[in-house]
Amino acid sequence: QTLNVALGDRSYPIHIGPGLLGQTQWWDSVRARPLRLITDDHVARHYLAPLRTLLGLDEAAVRILTAGESQKSWEQAGAILDWLLQTHLPRDGCLIALGGGVIGDLVGFCAAIYQRGIDFVQVPTTLLAQVDSSVGGKTGINHPRGKNMIGAFHQPRLVLADTDTLKTLPRRELLAGIAEIIKYGMLGDRAFFDWIEAQLDALLALDAEAITYAVHHSCRMKAEIVARDERESGPRALLNLGHTFGHAIETHTGYGAWLHGEAVATGLCMAADLSARLGWIAPDDAQRCIALVARAGLPTVPPAGMTPGDFLQRMALDKKVAHGKLRLVLLRAIGEAVVTADFDPAKLGETLASFCSPQ
Ligand code: NAD
Ligand code: ZN
Repeated sequence: QTLNVALGDRSYPIHIGPGLLGQTQWWDSVRARPLRLITDDHVARHYLAPLRTLLGLDEAAVRILTAGESQKSWEQAGAILDWLLQTHLPRDGCLIALGGGVIGDLVGFCAAIYQRGIDFVQVPTTLLAQVDSSVGGKTGINHPRGKNMIGAFHQPRLVLADTDTLKTLPRRELLAGIAEIIKYGMLGDRAFFDWIEAQLDALLALDAEAITYAVHHSCRMKAEIVARDERESGPRALLNLGHTFGHAIETHTGYGAWLHGEAVATGLCMAADLSARLGWIAPDDAQRCIALVARAGLPTVPPAGMTPGDFLQRMALDKKVAHGKLRLVLLRAIGEAVVTADFDPAKLGETLASFCSPQ
């Protein structure tokens, strides 16, 4: 399955399906160029050797990082840029990011700034990276003051999403990616939401057809939104459904305790609940969203001890605050999200009170 991200001269294909990493044809556009591959040690264990052989890469063209979010740092970006210079990667060279969102964001950022920008290829190996971070061109690193605070828009040349790689992914990471898939159904496509409800067991079992369809459909929805709004001035904000609540949970617990997708899953439930309290969706529809998140084995309530005050304080710092008013992505229906600051804050208080367990 192939889809195209339509961004004029920065357009690129996304290939999705089982077994792509064993096939040479996808690399035709870059294989003759000087290549450098960056991955992490978990991913390297499973997927580096075959890809190295396929692309004829010698050891000096490969860099293996320790897995983990802490690699998205100035220090690591600097070390990679040093390495690229020391190994004389020319401007027509190309970087390959083999791994999850951490590798994709970091390598994409290095590609964006090395010699004012060189090409890179995303080979996403987590479900989150396949349905979300490898599409759309946001790259970046973290700063002690905040996640993704330094970055650039830089589109890849090519995305290769081999769904077979998900077989080695830890279960929790897989479920975190499912949360983002549920998000796409809720925010923009009721029929897809229905499909996820019906096919959830097949998805969780990594049925090849189901997972390929889900990744393809999610990427297509993201690609369409990004094509309309590459730099997030408008519709792209819809992709943040569940994320304002989710970020509050992630910062409250300290990054890492909850996976991003787990926090987003709870955020989706809270956004659905608030939309129902505002009378924008039926209470039954909110319940359907929450039930789907629960069936996927994802959390539907924030961590014990987190209070409405914790949410409000952290949500006010969220980047979706425009002109001093809290903007949220909420639902007008399952499959129809809106970005709005125009809601009754008392209802937000009710949602927070009902989701936060009394201490
Ligand atoms: P990750 O890259 O840390 O991967 C999660 C874990 O799974 C790591 O330990 C990794 O080594 C391991 N792993 C990866 N693929 C594997 C495989 N096939 N088999 C076994 N283990 C495997 O995390 P992630 O969830 O993929 O990405 C999170 C990052 O993505 C965050 O830094 C977030 O900010 C970023 N992100 C970016 C965007 C964007 O638009 N650029 C969007 C969403 C998230
Ligand atoms: Zn997300």
